[in-house]
Amino acid sequence: MTKRKIILEAVIFCLVLLVLFLSAFLTFFLVSENVLEENIRSVSNVAEKVFDGNDPSTGEKTVSYFDDAGEYRISIITKTADGYQILYDSEDMLQSDAMAEELQPENVGKFITRKSSYGYNMVYYAVHDKENPTYFIRVSVSESAATSVSRNFLIYGSLVMAILMGSYIVFKYRDYNRSVKPLRDQVERLLYLAGYPSDRLGEGEDLSLIADAIDEVSSELDKKITDLQNEKEKTKMILDSMSQAFLAVSGNGQIVLFNRKASEMFGYSEKEALRKDYHILSAGEDFSAHVEKCLKERKDGRHFDIQMKGRTYQCNVMALNFPWIDHLKSGAAILVMDVTEERNLVKIKTDFFANASHELKTPLTAILGYQEMLDNGLLTTPEEKQEAVRMTIKEAKKMREMLSDMLTISRLENGTQTQASDVEISALIQSILEDMQPKILENHISIDLKLEEYHVHADRGDIEKIFSNLIDNAIKYNKPNGMISIEMNPRDGYITVSDTGIGIKEEHLSRIFERFYRVDNSKTLKNVEGTGLGLAIIKHICQKYGYRIEVRSTFGQGTTFILRT
Ligand code: ADP
Repeated sequence: MTKRKIILEAVIFCLVLLVLFLSAFLTFFLVSENVLEENIRSVSNVAEKVFDGNDPSTGEKTVSYFDDAGEYRISIITKTADGYQILYDSEDMLQSDAMAEELQPENVGKFITRKSSYGYNMVYYAVHDKENPTYFIRVSVSESAATSVSRNFLIYGSLVMAILMGSYIVFKYRDYNRSVKPLRDQVERLLYLAGYPSDRLGEGEDLSLIADAIDEVSSELDKKITDLQNEKEKTKMILDSMSQAFLAVSGNGQIVLFNRKASEMFGYSEKEALRKDYHILSAGEDFSAHVEKCLKERKDGRHFDIQMKGRTYQCNVMALNFPWIDHLKSGAAILVMDVTEERNLVKIKTDFFANASHELKTPLTAILGYQEMLDNGLLTTPEEKQEAVRMTIKEAKKMREMLSDMLTISRLENGTQTQASDVEISALIQSILEDMQPKILENHISIDLKLEEYHVHADRGDIEKIFSNLIDNAIKYNKPNGMISIEMNPRDGYITVSDTGIGIKEEHLSRIFERFYRVDNSKTLKNVEGTGLGLAIIKHICQKYGYRIEVRSTFGQGTTFILRT
């Protein structure tokens, strides 16, 4: 109920009361008027009767009869040639009122109200003496006497009515306040929560004020909800942009947070994973054991690695403790990082040292062997000595070549700055082929060239290394009388180097670019010299310039390397 409604109701109530009072007053007034008139009439009748059979002129004899007329004034009036004369007046006012209108023939027997000689309104009623119509008996009474009862009624009635109306309004207002109080208290609380000062609503209990406040609170809350949603979106965006998988598990093992990377790693969408037991992730026993331990002991766990789908992930389990969030009172947050590359790099580095030592040890052992044999005089003939020197030089060259390749890789890995310039590849290839001519002839290899002008902006030495390694391999791993085709497609941005050699089995294709990796698959290869670093160098150079190197091979038939610049 609004305040306006209450006021309206009180006004209606007061109006009804007023109407009732006025009608009561009117009725009372009319009744009291009638009673007064009746009294006057009866007084005059009595007066008439008293004069019955008497001479009005000797009315004085009966005057004592009217002594007790009280508030009524009784006059005996006679009509004379000059007008009217008061013969007798209960108040001894013999001269006054003699010309009064109530004595006019048309007014006789009627109630007439006029100003009296006393100066205030009187009600007059005159009748003829039946015996002698020249005599009048007139009864009058002051109008105030006639209306005093009504006036009193009006005064006291109004007073009672005012008290009644006032009480009603006070009662209604209190009742209204009492009914509105709980609502007001709630709104005060909401206002407080929405960040308004505690006296924001003021003293007013008006519902419209409260409604306004509710409006304000609701728009404030709307704003806060929008802000919260924005914050949530922001947090989600941050979580989803993480390169690590992040998930949170509640005390009872339910997944309560699952970012985009977690979806990628574990193969479940956020919707599929949320509220499910974390065991569905099938991340292995180690993972479950660590999470379980963290949930139980409520302590951060240690880093550990897990293997999934051939990749290595480092996991970090942290205890969550949000006492105000039921499911996170004893939860766990899990950060999962793909460390496959890092772990591989560590392995590659370890392998590299092992391999490098091994690869260097082989020629060194051979060199030492020949030198010892010379030193110990085991080689006696000039041919034997000659052979020992030749082999020593060969092994030393191999070592030099290997060390040079290792230095190249190290230089490429460290990102050492090189001089980039315009390099025309077809001319470069022709120069490499010229240098390798003896080797080509020795292996009876024919060359098929489809050369076109092909420009790149790079270090000449780097591009030379790519093609000298590819062509060298195409010669080394070719069959006798085999063929090498080199084709350039500057428009499409690629160059192919194909051979009709021994080919590479499928299972080795992904590994030939690793350092020191050599396919050990045939007797022929055992006789082929190499460091196992050539393709690793090519891979590094391609990475440096953003090129791509691809290989296609059919075992026993030949291999094609495609360089995309
Ligand atoms: P290597 O010094 O042994 O030639 P590379 O890194 O150049 O080292 O090559 C790695 C391995 O890849 C080689 O040992 C060989 O087994 C294989 N390979 C490379 N090129 C060819 C090719 N054209 N045909 C067949 N096998 C090849």
